[in-house]
Amino acid sequence: MESILSIKNLHKRYGFVHAVNGISLEIKKGNVYGILGPNGSGKSTTLGIVLNVVNKTSGEFTWFDGSQSTHEAIKKVGAIIERPNFYPYMTAAENLSLVCKIKGIPKTKVAEKLEIVGLTERRNSKFRTFSLGMKQRLAIASALLNDPEILILDEPTNGLDPQGIHQIREIIRLIASTGTTILLASHLLDEVEKVCSHVLVLKKGQMLYSGTVSDMVRSEGFFELAANDLVELERKLRLHPYFKSVDSAQDKLVFTTSTTIAAADLNQYLASENIFVSHLAFKKPSLEEQFLTLTKTANL
Ligand code: ADP
Ligand code: MG
Repeated sequence: MESILSIKNLHKRYGFVHAVNGISLEIKKGNVYGILGPNGSGKSTTLGIVLNVVNKTSGEFTWFDGSQSTHEAIKKVGAIIERPNFYPYMTAAENLSLVCKIKGIPKTKVAEKLEIVGLTERRNSKFRTFSLGMKQRLAIASALLNDPEILILDEPTNGLDPQGIHQIREIIRLIASTGTTILLASHLLDEVEKVCSHVLVLKKGQMLYSGTVSDMVRSEGFFELAANDLVELERKLRLHPYFKSVDSAQDKLVFTTSTTIAAADLNQYLASENIFVSHLAFKKPSLEEQFLTLTKTANL
């Protein structure tokens, strides 16, 4: 797959603050990448560095296999890293036409991009009458005018109401479905889970996880069990051929196996050992729980 951006061992220090601490990331064409981390974890600094608005302290990043200078490469990037800013007394279409004029893009793109972000009907409304969500959608349309190879968004749904959040996420999915590579920064787990194929989890500038969202979500899962005699239940679970661990959680036991087994098979095994469970459920930790586990165990 074609490389869009390659980041290797990037560092940024602001005095004593190590804002970006050894980040590496390979961005391949057609995927949707999320940089996920709490506020202050170095997301915006990382985006600023690759967009040449923040100077790195050390490390490397290369656009498009290094075939062009960063200056040239960034012309093929659509980025929104600040609050959208347009002329308040000009209409949506006029604002985008002006961007076309400045960047030497054919004006025919205006209608096409307004359609993608669902602003066709409001194309002749003045920018100052727009809601925050509409302003953000107009900013996305503007970033798409030059048909960029990659769209970069920093916290694209910040400050929006639930409907505005939903609209922006749908638009991101739509843009991704046309093959545009996307890199977005977010402190929201469900946002990354909903729109991204790949994720880089950051905490205090350090990488805690890098890989596909599905690999992060895919985990073995565990059984939750209860019975009248928990001691006997635990003893039998320890004798199970695929026993891995058993822990007590309040009035239940949490049982993990070394390989995936069906709940019905576990139930049958226990019944054959004269244990009749009052509760048996298979559970998978959510991305949120995994994220919390990751950030906890890393102990940064
Ligand atoms: P995020 O986008 O994940 O919220 P940032 O990249 O904005 O995180 O910030 C990472 C760290 O760097 C924070 O501790 C922040 O206070 C610090 N920082 C960011 N920009 C500057 C700056 N211009 N000067 C000093 N410290 C900064
Ligand atoms: Mg930020």
